[in-house]
Amino acid sequence: MEAEERNLNFIEQIVENDLQEGKNDGRIQTRFPPEPNGYLHIGHVKAICMDFGIAERYNGVCNLRFDDTNPVKEDVEYVDSIQQDIRWLGFRWGNVYYASDYFEQLYNLAIQFIKDGKAYVDEQTAEQIALQKGTPTEPGVASPYRDRPIEENLRLFEAMQRGEIEDGRMVLRAKIDMANPNMHFRDPIMYRIITTHPHHRTGRRWNVYPMYDFAHGQSDYFEGVTHSICTLEFVVHRPLYDYFIDQFAGDNFAGLSPYGKDYRPHQYEFNRLNITYTVMSKRKMLQLVKEGLVRGWDDPRMPTVCGLRRRGYTAAAIREFINKIGYTKVEGMIDIGLLEHTIRESLKETAPRVCAIFDPVKLIITNYNGEGETIIAENIDGHPELGTREMPFARELYIERGDFQEAADKNFYRLSPMGREVRLKSAYIIQATGCEKDSEGNITTVYATYDPDSKSGTEGGNRKTKATINWVECRSALDVEARLYDRLFAVENPSAEEGDFRDLLNPDSLKVVTCKAENSLREVMHQPQVIDGIAQVKHFQLLKQGYFVVDPDTTDNRIVLNRTASLKDNWQK
Ligand code: ATP
Ligand code: MG
Repeated sequence: MEAEERNLNFIEQIVENDLQEGKNDGRIQTRFPPEPNGYLHIGHVKAICMDFGIAERYNGVCNLRFDDTNPVKEDVEYVDSIQQDIRWLGFRWGNVYYASDYFEQLYNLAIQFIKDGKAYVDEQTAEQIALQKGTPTEPGVASPYRDRPIEENLRLFEAMQRGEIEDGRMVLRAKIDMANPNMHFRDPIMYRIITTHPHHRTGRRWNVYPMYDFAHGQSDYFEGVTHSICTLEFVVHRPLYDYFIDQFAGDNFAGLSPYGKDYRPHQYEFNRLNITYTVMSKRKMLQLVKEGLVRGWDDPRMPTVCGLRRRGYTAAAIREFINKIGYTKVEGMIDIGLLEHTIRESLKETAPRVCAIFDPVKLIITNYNGEGETIIAENIDGHPELGTREMPFARELYIERGDFQEAADKNFYRLSPMGREVRLKSAYIIQATGCEKDSEGNITTVYATYDPDSKSGTEGGNRKTKATINWVECRSALDVEARLYDRLFAVENPSAEEGDFRDLLNPDSLKVVTCKAENSLREVMHQPQVIDGIAQVKHFQLLKQGYFVVDPDTTDNRIVLNRTASLKDNWQK
């Protein structure tokens, strides 16, 4: 898929400016810093496309840094899945770093802060500390521990690290300004105690863990990041980001840079991705997974990268979607219809067509007496250059129940015993003659006659009918489980509603249908497909039903398909 030509986004403009001014000796270094506490979602992809995109475009490097400062929630399962997803999206990092690589340096910095009188150990509870914060217009209240002697702070912080203090009993706070209009400056917490969980990389080495604000900027600095790009909610953190770095960089340059030079990272923020009818929070997704409300992180209804992949989204289409929405400094909500539209457009011209009957009823062609034959059908109608497939044809076929009406009104142009001619797609013209019903009045068999001289591709094939219907030959038909997905939530913005977000799930988000599919599906589903150099699952269009891929639940004797997108496009530009 060709990426559309577009104007530079505002961060690219900043980068170009910096390059022109020769900042950082012309080095461009970004990072993507996920916390390994869940799987990546499409919101992360927006950040990934920015972080890796800047590095690619300006000959820089983007590193992957795991922001692993909270062992309670983090796990190697997430570390692995994040790497797999980024690779699948088509991006390559320079190095893999972990914030936990810097625990020693950060701890030493904290000790220095204490020695310099810039940090203190607070013994109040989190609730007490919160109550003292004040409001943006009222100053906060100083902790009674704020002025404790440096020696005591040192002794207590070291005791915290040795595991001698219970979790939650003490924290280390920066001593900055309890009256600062920026609430983040009101003595933010630098360290907390976590003894309950071993860290996935450092094990039991640490009993104190740095908070985001004390770890992020420093990590950027330690790596030599030039442009630290994140989302808008961090705008208010930026002064603190700069403050902590100021304590050991610039005039205080302490040689902590990998280049032995005081390269200063700068934080820039863009708008988060929010999409209608879904949630974009790992915490909520984890809850859905844990409580079995979805089948896992890769449930095709989930907005996760692995969920979208299983659903049949291609990396190219996801990146194209991100390219379309762009980057601004205003929060907003993106219509999920645009995401669906993007994948639909990308499959329209490439997905071969296969017939499947979702609500089958048997059709018997009473005057067809041969053994059967093979119909040649185009993979994509009107595009003979894209190849053809073979469809077995015989006396007994399946057709859609809805394509026959016993007592049809005059606006019904498909099969009815009123003598109307209907074409079986790519094959013959038939006329219904009657039907058979069971004791409850359900139609079990439709009877018809065919015109042997009407075969598509022959001279008689040009005869027009008002309707064409789909069919699948009975003996060769495959029983296929089709999973049809709808939006995960019933409301447009579940995060904005009062009450429990789980009550807003769409009860009809998954429908399972067993259908009768044409046997060429077996071949189509095993063909490898590569789009933009990235191996993809093979897509196909089930006629009238949408675009599908094979689900990994498929075994030798059970075919399971996921509907990637229906054919109907609701997207309005
Ligand atoms: P969540 O709230 O889902 O846990 P997070 O922001 O805590 O998300 P991180 O792992 O900390 O997740 O995010 C890594 C990077 O991805 C950050 O730079 C963050 O700004 C970015 N990011 C996360 N969610 C979005 C989103 N919806 N849109 C754009 N960028 C995002
Ligand atoms: Mg986070």
